[in-house]
Amino acid sequence: MNLQPTERVRLVFLFSDTGGGHRSAAEAIIEAIEKEYPNQVSTAMVDFFREYAPRPLDMAPEIYPPLTRLPDVWQFGYRVSDGRRRARLMNEMFWPYIRRSVQRLLREHPCDLLVSVHPLINNPVLHAMTGQHYVPYATVVTDLVSTHAAWFDARADLVVVPTGAARQRGLQMGLRPEQLHVIGLPVADRFTQPAKDVAELRRRLDWPLDRPVLLLVGGGEGMGPLEQVAQAIHRARLDAALVIIAGRNQALKARLEAHPWQMPVKVYGFVREMPDFMRAADVLITKAGPGTICEAFIAGLPLILYSRLPGQEEGNVRYVVEQGAGVWAPESEQVVATLQRWLRNPEQRQAAAEASHSLARPQAARQIARLLVERAGVHHRAMNPDLDGLHR
Ligand code: UDP
Repeated sequence: MNLQPTERVRLVFLFSDTGGGHRSAAEAIIEAIEKEYPNQVSTAMVDFFREYAPRPLDMAPEIYPPLTRLPDVWQFGYRVSDGRRRARLMNEMFWPYIRRSVQRLLREHPCDLLVSVHPLINNPVLHAMTGQHYVPYATVVTDLVSTHAAWFDARADLVVVPTGAARQRGLQMGLRPEQLHVIGLPVADRFTQPAKDVAELRRRLDWPLDRPVLLLVGGGEGMGPLEQVAQAIHRARLDAALVIIAGRNQALKARLEAHPWQMPVKVYGFVREMPDFMRAADVLITKAGPGTICEAFIAGLPLILYSRLPGQEEGNVRYVVEQGAGVWAPESEQVVATLQRWLRNPEQRQAAAEASHSLARPQAARQIARLLVERAGVHHRAMNPDLDGLHR
């Protein structure tokens, strides 16, 4: 390492824009670091595939959305690679092809801790550091329960997981108990602010005050059969208002806006004010993305999950349903039936809302930040013995 004694502790986050969740996890931790250690820590984010992988792996962010629209192909890829030996075999196959890129990454980003928030980054980077060029390495797992084998590389110094089930999986994959830290999924600070007045929020958003508001989301990309679900809710003539978020899916947004709705409906593209939307809504209908689910827990929203990616999102559904925080409704009619039940029996909706809130881990990003900076600090002090270290 060539850190100068005056330099600050430095953390480098390795992520990729395959889905929105990896980037937002890294951003949430970086934000928490700045709040916990103002101006004391330097951080950088590296899109591993985009910036360092050779063709065609650098196209991963473009390949991901169409791939997830082919659930069978996705499931096949997930399953064939999901095992300790299978993951190792895949990595050995790819290693000669990406070796130079990973070595360049390590040369160009000297730091006190590498933090990966993506499963496919771990093996190549840890492999490149074996026996040389050692930098402490942390993984922050961004799937809740069904966690792919590639998340758990025993050479990592520490692995942060969001649930006990993910920890169990890590142990099965050969990690030692002391390597695993059950903390939670890092969520942006603005989701963790104290609740605001709902009536006030609804007035500002121009949402109705006299009926329940159903919030319908399909991840950052407006994925899954969001349109069919919206149509089914519309046909059911529910005594509610519907807020639909099409995310970055412009074509979907345009179609929804052109629809002659017979109920109060608001259509949005990608919104920045998701925390307020969640606080102002009564029910969240969503695909089973881990970020959205954990944000909904913090807002205490009961969940209706209408689609999920095979593989990594299957466990999210189990978790929500087993904990009583929501319902799995893969058919639009099931979404409608659940809404009818919850609107007729508000106490059932309330019970799901409370179960959802009990799963919230709003402090996760801050706790992860402290763990990572402390680990980086140990390395920094070892490399710069004359320094006093961090002050909080
Ligand atoms: N999101 C947002 N605005 C939108 C749609 C989504 O800020 O209009 C955020 C959402 O709050 C969550 C993330 O995008 O933090 C989606 O992450 P998730 O893990 O749920 O699904 P992914 O898109 O990664 O599959």
